[in-house]
Amino acid sequence: MTRPAVQRNRLKFFPLAFAVAGRPVVVIGNGERALQKLRLLARSEARLVCHAEAPNPALRAFLASEPVDWVPARPARLAPSAAALVFVATDDPADDAALAAMARAARIPVNVVDRADLSDFTVPAIVDRAPIAVAISTDGTSPVLAQRLRAAIEAMLAPGLGRVAELADALRGTVARRLSDSVARRRFWMRLFDGPAGDAALAGDAARARRLAIQALARESATTPDGKVFLVGAGPGAEDLLTLRAQRLLQEADAIVHDDLVPAAVIDMGRRDATRHAVGKRKGRHSATQEDINDLLVRLAREGRRVVRLKAGDPAVFGRAGEEIAAVRAAGIDVEIVPGITAALAAAADVGASLTRRGTASCLVVATGHGAEQSEPGGWEAAAANGATVALYMGRSVAGRVAARAIAAGLAPDTPVAAVENAGRTDRRILAGTLSDLPALAVREEIAGPVMILIGEALAAADLAAAEQLAVRRRQIAQGEFAA
Ligand code: SAH
Repeated sequence: MTRPAVQRNRLKFFPLAFAVAGRPVVVIGNGERALQKLRLLARSEARLVCHAEAPNPALRAFLASEPVDWVPARPARLAPSAAALVFVATDDPADDAALAAMARAARIPVNVVDRADLSDFTVPAIVDRAPIAVAISTDGTSPVLAQRLRAAIEAMLAPGLGRVAELADALRGTVARRLSDSVARRRFWMRLFDGPAGDAALAGDAARARRLAIQALARESATTPDGKVFLVGAGPGAEDLLTLRAQRLLQEADAIVHDDLVPAAVIDMGRRDATRHAVGKRKGRHSATQEDINDLLVRLAREGRRVVRLKAGDPAVFGRAGEEIAAVRAAGIDVEIVPGITAALAAAADVGASLTRRGTASCLVVATGHGAEQSEPGGWEAAAANGATVALYMGRSVAGRVAARAIAAGLAPDTPVAAVENAGRTDRRILAGTLSDLPALAVREEIAGPVMILIGEALAAADLAAAEQLAVRRRQIAQGEFAA
């Protein structure tokens, strides 16, 4: 299954959690930056060693009050693997570089403070809810940004969060014995964290939290798992045009069943352990029949899983949601719809236009170009001739017929038209013109992404500064196949 290519930066520094408990960690330096690192490291169970021949007063006070081995001299050499990690902060570039080389020769990973270029690792900004830690790494690009993110995350996480993790740790063995099925275990934990036991742990009442958790466990082992299917709208393809609910469900999913139109970056936002099922349906390339998809949804839910059926845009707009809902309901399984931003709305936003307009466009028609071969004009075409704005899905390859039929129904050939490829995404492309230019869309072979066609007087007010001409030269049209 080919996925659409996504352009993404890759990390230069990969965040890891390093085992330091009981191991020596060396900090070299006399000043504020050495002190900052020591303060951070003092939250861990590492055995701290500080080399400072002339510590400033603040550092001296810290060394006197905290359990740190103070060596009042620079290390002359470092034995191989003498420490788990070395931090260098001498405030002298030449000394920093020499000490970094010394650590590296001893095969010890080294960090030179504020010098990512000399470092084997960087130190992320940390939100500490031990045993939970959230680390924010910026690849050394912006410590200030990292601090801002840290403040935002600090505010989001309850101070007692670590106690919830401790509760989970204490119960892990019991839960594994009582619930053999991994899906049931996962559901148990999710309910536990959101329920009264989680609240009691957050509030610091460990005994009550444990009691409530054991009760919940007894209930859970007595019930049979019930799966559920969520028909989730993924929006037009930009990660930040997902709803918060869609994002949460993706992160709680046991299985994600998705179309080709949903970009990899959105699917990647799902829970890492969720199984992925690509059931892409693209024009001219059916990789799974609708029946196959229905069967898959039912089978996954019967296994007790939370199934996210991820669909481009909104599931209820040309998403064949009706068939999937019916199949899942017929199997006696719960189904819930989570709306998404449909392509028409993303395209309207891209061209800065309102789809409705007091007085001139009081009706919005959502239509498909698909099937234009068979049915008689008279549906959306008639509405358009009466002033409706039309949002046409799946209309690119039949653009010639669409235009001819709309004109035959009485719509003026100079009615404004905007076509948006990849609406809502950074690689969007806007083509603007009139209804008589629309046939050109079918012959533009460079257009590979999904295209939304907006037709109507409402588009006259669009901001088309970034738009290209929809019309192509006559010769190109003559060679093209309008009604492919
Ligand atoms: N449920 C989807 C529509 C699926 S039908 C929704 O609500 O948006 C597939 C058609 O949707 C495509 O042929 C195209 O016309 C349109 N489409 C989907 N995503 C799009 C996007 N990002 N940009 C432009 N058109 C899109």
